[in-house]
Amino acid sequence: MSAGRVFLIGAGPGDPGLLTVRARELLAQADVILTDRLVPPGIYDGLSAEVIDVGKIGGGEQVPQDETNRLLLEHARAGKLVARVKGGDPFVFGRGGEEAQVLRAAGIPFEVVPGVTAGVAAAAYAGIPVTQRGVAPAVAFVTGHEDPAKPETQIDWPALAAFPGTLVFYMGVRALPRIAAKLVEHGRPADEPAAVVQRGTLGDQRAVVSTLARIADDAAKANIRPPSITVVGGVAALARELAWLGEARPLGGLSVAVTRARAQASALAGRLRALGATVVEAPAIAIEPLPVTLPDLSTYDLLCVTSPNGATRLLEEVRDARELAGPVIAAIGPGTARALRDGGIEADIVPPRSVAESLVEVLAEVPVNRALIARAEEARDVLPDALEARGAHVDVLALYRTVRAPLDAAARAAVDEADYVTFTSASSVRNVLDAGATLVGPRLVSIGPATSAMLREHGLTPHVEATEHTPDGLVEALLADVTR
Ligand code: SAH
Repeated sequence: MSAGRVFLIGAGPGDPGLLTVRARELLAQADVILTDRLVPPGIYDGLSAEVIDVGKIGGGEQVPQDETNRLLLEHARAGKLVARVKGGDPFVFGRGGEEAQVLRAAGIPFEVVPGVTAGVAAAAYAGIPVTQRGVAPAVAFVTGHEDPAKPETQIDWPALAAFPGTLVFYMGVRALPRIAAKLVEHGRPADEPAAVVQRGTLGDQRAVVSTLARIADDAAKANIRPPSITVVGGVAALARELAWLGEARPLGGLSVAVTRARAQASALAGRLRALGATVVEAPAIAIEPLPVTLPDLSTYDLLCVTSPNGATRLLEEVRDARELAGPVIAAIGPGTARALRDGGIEADIVPPRSVAESLVEVLAEVPVNRALIARAEEARDVLPDALEARGAHVDVLALYRTVRAPLDAAARAAVDEADYVTFTSASSVRNVLDAGATLVGPRLVSIGPATSAMLREHGLTPHVEATEHTPDGLVEALLADVTR
């Protein structure tokens, strides 16, 4: 049997964008992933590896280190590629060094993939450079020992207090009153700047900037919780001048539910995350391709494609691209046009608003005898009806249907607790409600009139409706609502 290998991987502090390229490569190759809990959300989506949670959360139940070591050896000895993934950097308060020793002793080859450590990154995302010319020529990373079972006497307070530079404490939230008091007792100025950064680099990051004398009280008042780092030193005050996250992430601190089918959700979810939102993925619908026999496309003078899925499915079915040379091709909106373009087809017509009514208006100028509409089974009949009313022969080609996907209790609760729930189709409204969500608390964001109508039909108010009926338009409308 071929020998296994272990990769000790740092996954960064939380923002999935701070995962290294090397880490991403290795995760894609891994057979087994042994993960901690403090890793960025979503980094294992779509991977084939078996994911085993050996996470430790301060104070909570944990997989004992011996058991983690045992699992590492067992899977590596079975010839597997094992990714041992830790938050931040594996060798900074991550016990990566101990695990490497276990592997070395067992003769199992390993590699280390450093990660972006929280002490540097959470500070940076709060506008705090851990060193700064003229302010801090050095930085020390210190464990604050959140675990009350551990003897806190390991910390040499006089030496720490005398350290000529920034002190960054990990795992020190609960011990913060003690840490601050000890530092002052041993000579750090009571008015020295200090800051706490909770869930640094994540969408809901929070920071408190204060002084050593006041930081524990101020953090308690702000209800600061783990995971947080504490920065002590003149650099902490730079947060007041350099904090940048709020401007770059206008959706920071907000949770936004995305109810589209998983296959389509990622672009919208990515956009929302980039704006700072904590995204709740609640795919209440799934796309089910329907078996189709394509008619002879060259017999039509108009081909309307009314969704990106429809475009993708259609192009899958077309055997010979020349069949598409005949008809005028209309796409309902830019997303559909993009999906056609991905298949090498440039739409002739894209209406100004991405709704059937707008397409009908634009088509008024176009002579039509025979039209084919490629779409979802359950789509509205506005377009075929309008074309038939003009005397055209219309065939409807149902390429797929959207089906209900069940939401588990946790997803349902997360939707109802979200600040915003986004709907990109009328069917997603129906399915989220069928899945048992009440949608009473959150602000409801609709992509357009048909989706809003469905909300109203169920006695709900669309608080926000996109002016441009595309996912990007939906994000714009949501942003406008937040900054209102
Ligand atoms: N290996 C990790 C640290 C693990 S110890 C690293 O290099 O970052 C766990 C501690 O890291 C937490 O108690 C907290 O102090 C800190 N931490 C981890 N993620 C954090 C985050 N996103 N924001 C603030 N602190 C974080």
